[in-house]
Amino acid sequence: MKRNEHITMLHGAGGTVMHDLVKNYILKYFGGVENADFEVPLEALDDAAVVGDIVLKSDSHAVKPIFFPGGDIGRLAVSGTVNDIAVLGAEPYALACSFILEEGLPLADFEKILASMQQTCREAHVSIVTGDTKVVEKGSLGGCVVNVSGIGKRTEALEKNLAVVKRFRSDFKTRWVLDSNLKPGDKIILSGTIGDHGLAVLSAQEGLSFGGGIKSDVKPLNRLIQRLLGEVGGVVAMKDPTRGGLADALNEFSEKSKVGILIHEEKIPINENVRAACEMLGLDPLEVGNEGKIIIGAVREKAEEILELLKTIEEGKEAEIIGETTKDFNGVAMQTAVGGKRIIARPVGDPIPRIC
Ligand code: MG
Repeated sequence: MKRNEHITMLHGAGGTVMHDLVKNYILKYFGGVENADFEVPLEALDDAAVVGDIVLKSDSHAVKPIFFPGGDIGRLAVSGTVNDIAVLGAEPYALACSFILEEGLPLADFEKILASMQQTCREAHVSIVTGDTKVVEKGSLGGCVVNVSGIGKRTEALEKNLAVVKRFRSDFKTRWVLDSNLKPGDKIILSGTIGDHGLAVLSAQEGLSFGGGIKSDVKPLNRLIQRLLGEVGGVVAMKDPTRGGLADALNEFSEKSKVGILIHEEKIPINENVRAACEMLGLDPLEVGNEGKIIIGAVREKAEEILELLKTIEEGKEAEIIGETTKDFNGVAMQTAVGGKRIIARPVGDPIPRIC
C-alpha cells in the first residue's frame, strides 16, 4: 500500500486484499515473536493460536444489519469465536465479550442480542466470564460492534482423533488440527450447503426478498466437531468457510499444506434458492461467506465414516465428500458438472460487505 492509500471495505472482505493487509502490515509489527510456548503462532494465520495447551482466539463482529434472517450479531459473535477455536480440535469453554454500542441503539434491541448470545452459549456449552462495554456517538456503526474472545482446551476426543490419524500416517507430528496438515490423497468433506449466510445478510441489507426465504446458517459447531473427532477420527485439517467462502478457505488449505485440491462441482451442496439468487445477482456461491459450516480434511480411509456420522446429525445432514488433495498440481481446481476443469482462485474479497 502506498503512503496516500487508505483502508477500503475490501481490506475487511476476507480475500487477497485482506490477506495482503495482514501479511504486509500486521505480521510486520506483531509477527516473528520467538517463544517455544507459541506452538501455533501468529504467522500460521490459522483460525486461532495455540499457547501452551490453550487455544486462543479473538474476533470482532460488525455485521450490517445487526438482525438478519436466521440470526443476529450476538449469535454470530459467539458462534464465530467458538467455531474458530473448535476447528483446531479444541473445546471452547470460556469467552470474553466486549460491546461497542452506538448512541441511539434501542435498549430492547440490545436485550434481544444479549438473550440470543445467552441461548448460543447454552447450545455451545460455553460461558461469558468477562468483558467490557463502550458507547460511541451516532455514526455508521449500524447499532453495535461485538467482540468475542475465547479460550479452548485439549480433549480426549482430540487425542483419539490424532491416534487414528497416526494409524494411517506414522510421520504425523502436530498435536492439533491445522490448515497445514493435509497430504496428497486426503479427502475434503463439506458439512452442508454453502452461501446461505451471505445471501441472508445481503437480503436484509438491500431489502430484497428471495423466493423461498434464505436463512443464515449461523450456529456453533463445537459439539458436532468433538463427536467427529472422538467417535470416528482421522481428521487432519478443519476450517469454517466464512468471508471469501469455500474458494478462500480451500486456497488457504492448499497454500499452507502445499498440496493441490480438486473438488467436484456436482458434489457441492447448494440450496436451490441460494443458487437461483446467486445466478440472478451474478455472484459465485463459492465466494460467499458461511457461518455454520466446516470443511474437513481427513485421511481417505476415514472419510466415508466421517460422512456417515455427519449425516446422522442435524447440522451435518447435507454433508458431502466434495474432493481430494493431490500432488499433480498446485492451487485449487474444480471438475465442472459439464466435464471441464476450472481454476478456483482466491477471491479478491467476499462479494457481500459486512457479513460478519
Ligand atoms: Mg475461521
